Amino acid sequence: MGISVDTPVQFLKGVGPRLGEVLHKRGISTVEDLLHWFPRTYEDRRAARSIGSLAPEQVVSLAAEVVGVRSMTLGRSKRRMYEIIVADKSGRIACKFFRVPYKGYFERFQPQDKVRVAGKVTEYRGRMEFHHPDVHHLREDEETADTLIPLYTETEGLSPAKLRKIIDTALSGIFSPELTTPAKPAGQSPYSQSKSPGRGQFAPKPDRQLVEPLPAWVCQQYQLPQLPQALREIHQPPPQTADLFLKFQAPAQRRVIFEEFFWLELLLAQRRAGVEREQAPSLKGQQELVHRLIASLEFQLTGAQKKAWAEVVQDVAKPHPMHRLVQGDVGSGKTMVALLAAVYAAENGYQTSLMVPTEILAEQHFQNAQRRLSPLGVRVALLTGQMKPSERQEVYQRLESGEIQLVIGTHALIQAEVKFKNLALVIIDEQHRFGVGQRLSLKEKGLSPHFLVMTATPIPRSLAMTVYGDLDVSIIDELPAGRQQITTRVTYQSKHPQVWDFVEKQILSGRQAYVVYPLVEESEKIDLKNAVEEFDKLKGRFPKFRLGLLHGRMKPVEKEAVMTQFRQGELDILVSTTVIEVGVDVPNANVMVIEHAERFGLSQLHQLRGRVGRGAFKSYCVLVLGYAVSEESRQRAEIMEKTADGFRIAEADLELRGPGEFLGTRQSGLPGFKMANLVRDLGILQQARQAAFKMIADDPQMNHPENQRVWQLLAAKQSAVVG
Ligand code: ADP
Ligand code: MG
Repeated sequence: MGISVDTPVQFLKGVGPRLGEVLHKRGISTVEDLLHWFPRTYEDRRAARSIGSLAPEQVVSLAAEVVGVRSMTLGRSKRRMYEIIVADKSGRIACKFFRVPYKGYFERFQPQDKVRVAGKVTEYRGRMEFHHPDVHHLREDEETADTLIPLYTETEGLSPAKLRKIIDTALSGIFSPELTTPAKPAGQSPYSQSKSPGRGQFAPKPDRQLVEPLPAWVCQQYQLPQLPQALREIHQPPPQTADLFLKFQAPAQRRVIFEEFFWLELLLAQRRAGVEREQAPSLKGQQELVHRLIASLEFQLTGAQKKAWAEVVQDVAKPHPMHRLVQGDVGSGKTMVALLAAVYAAENGYQTSLMVPTEILAEQHFQNAQRRLSPLGVRVALLTGQMKPSERQEVYQRLESGEIQLVIGTHALIQAEVKFKNLALVIIDEQHRFGVGQRLSLKEKGLSPHFLVMTATPIPRSLAMTVYGDLDVSIIDELPAGRQQITTRVTYQSKHPQVWDFVEKQILSGRQAYVVYPLVEESEKIDLKNAVEEFDKLKGRFPKFRLGLLHGRMKPVEKEAVMTQFRQGELDILVSTTVIEVGVDVPNANVMVIEHAERFGLSQLHQLRGRVGRGAFKSYCVLVLGYAVSEESRQRAEIMEKTADGFRIAEADLELRGPGEFLGTRQSGLPGFKMANLVRDLGILQQARQAAFKMIADDPQMNHPENQRVWQLLAAKQSAVVG
């Protein structure tokens, strides 16, 4: 039978309707889908191992017998861990699972079952164990070849051996000589046409063959093997390159990873080129108001702020929209750059919209902008979802009439009711808290306004090239002069008395402190300190001090009242949940105590720590770990002790948590890569980006005949890549 990439999987030999359904559930309908289901990793069968001989960090495969399966809760939290204990003649080892691969997975394993375990050996408290290894029953038909075996994601109802067989069938079909005269399979996929399959609806498509989609010059310049060969090798790795495959450095893997990055970068390059064709108001002039603002400041701009500002001025003078990301560590003074830009737009006769992720931050920016810009005669307004409808109506009206020159707000700014008279500049603060979709919809409010985004989460280079790959970047890599270093210490709950004594001393010398808890309510049933309860306890510990409580369930007016008190020094200690994570700026506060620090991501800890060290006072950050924290959590916290460099922390965080979690669920702009890994494959990403941007630069109108196929493919992928 002839097989093309469009052949439905259930027409493959050995796949019936039942397996077809199993595959379909995993998103695999055609041979093409199947061949793009890549192995998670490979099992190295070249050297048989015994449990007694294992050493940390080895990637191994071994045959063993199940001794038992058990589950337990981790510490006092609700999270469960599963363990499959296996043994051979030389010893026993635990296979630990912190997530359940699928429902019923652990029920499959009974004592005395013969299994194969493959994975990386980890040392934990002096013992060897596996974390999330591949475990499957040894089978009669199991491959015995002395080679690399691809391991795919575990799927219920589909054994690994069966899956490998189906893929082999597909590959030999694809590579068979019959290919030149492919026969159409009898019948149609039950999935491709589910609605009223009337006669004549199935115009047969010409069979697409497995061909190289990348332009020839790209494959040549970057020495990439052709797709068909690459796919074959990925599923059937040649023994002589086994070591490369284990490290995901084989040419075949490089080829696939390159392509995944290439489409994304091509899209970014295309978007970028599109921006350069748009028209935007060109902002020019003497910067008279801007200079008056600078002269009114109680400080000098840092060199890095001046440089970023100069870059903005250059961008907005052009007739097409600026798309610039200002990256600067917490406390580096990004807000100032935003205000300069807003003032510049105002003196050119245009409006600016500044969007921030939280009400607290909106209010803070609004007060700051009021104080600094009103004396210059620039009219500023606040717009948040929590304002009374009548107040909002009024702001809408003043925006539409053009009276308001700078509006500061939350998501409320992207509501349909918000109309501008002449919006020229959109600024988004703390961009990492927003999704890409929001970035675009806000932009649609004006006629291609200039666009300035700011983020305090230093973004590892790989993410800057993907998520923000269509933006120019300014980096504020200098903190204002006179800033004190922040001393960070990791400690345990048992040391609370000492921590509170320390806080007391600081407050007695005139400072203020934050105490942060991860959650608000016990209702989550997770054994975390409850900010409300702890607040009462702390009041008992500090009877003479003024304490305030801030959490996400409070009404906005209440939150703002507490924030204002703290800002004005009327509170000594602010007990809070993470609502203060971004942006909050109270220079007199110099102690940050973070309870259950193990619950926070590194970047989040860095953000929280950035709430102190904002004035002239020596500042401190105390990370208090709960009982029963894992070794890994402790090591993570200790990274915070060692470095204050946001970029290094971000890299470490990306490595530990992966891009999805690093960016948070709200960041929808990142495609799910099948093989590419942003941490591991930075070099390939750089090459793919270079190739894609060159392609657009050489053919900006996208009309060179030899590129047509690539543009068509890109259009088809567009919806799948970036939303
Ligand atoms: P971030 O970059 O984290 O948003 P902010 O813009 O909130 O930082 O600035 C932090 C603090 O530093 C603010 O109180 C701000 O007024 C102050 N600041 C900004 N620029 C300077 C400067 N050049 N010199 C001294 N202080 C500055
Ligand atoms: Mg800020």
